[in-house]
Amino acid sequence: MLARSLAARNAVVVARLHRASARRIVAATTRSDMSSDARAHGDGVSFGPIAIPGAQVFYETSQTFALVNLKPVVPGHVLVCPRRSTPKFTDLSDEEISDLWRTVAVIQRALEREHDTSSSTLAIQDGPLAGQTVPHVHVHVLPRRVGDFARNDDVYDDLERWNADGSKALDDDRPPRSAEEMRAEADALRALF
Ligand code: AMP
Repeated sequence: MLARSLAARNAVVVARLHRASARRIVAATTRSDMSSDARAHGDGVSFGPIAIPGAQVFYETSQTFALVNLKPVVPGHVLVCPRRSTPKFTDLSDEEISDLWRTVAVIQRALEREHDTSSSTLAIQDGPLAGQTVPHVHVHVLPRRVGDFARNDDVYDDLERWNADGSKALDDDRPPRSAEEMRAEADALRALF
């Protein structure tokens, strides 16, 4: 997939999300299951060793947060993480696992609605041998569209092509997104909940 066409599709999606945000802003500001931090998009979070600014975080619960992606594989590709920074899914308590997956479902539903699709890829690369580059459990949520990959499972090849610092991995020609682009997407997503 060409970097330019993905960037263009992302821009279209963010513009559409902003229109939806305007419709939903009242609901978003009164929702009770997000922390006040998320609504104010103030404090940042730790994603493994990476300090993520609050502007990149679009959904939070007491145990879980979701952030927009530096290098999305498809438009709408986001990450859902336990608040506690630990590398392995198997390190999580039952309570953290429940909250993480409940949150994934909430976000998946919203993304499928906004991207007008009924399918998503959910993935965890759990440990370095599985392709994990950021040592903090994260569920990749990717809304899927007809024809987004030549072969459906090519999505997994693209998920492998990251370096935690945003530097180029083998045959990855996608530049990291700007802070402004990620902030705009997070603003739009935040208003969906
Ligand atoms: P994995 O290779 O499964 O560990 O996935 C790491 C994910 O983290 C990839 O989707 C990266 O694009 C994403 N990522 C890395 N650094 C950042 C960052 N600063 N902000 C947002 N996403 C990031």
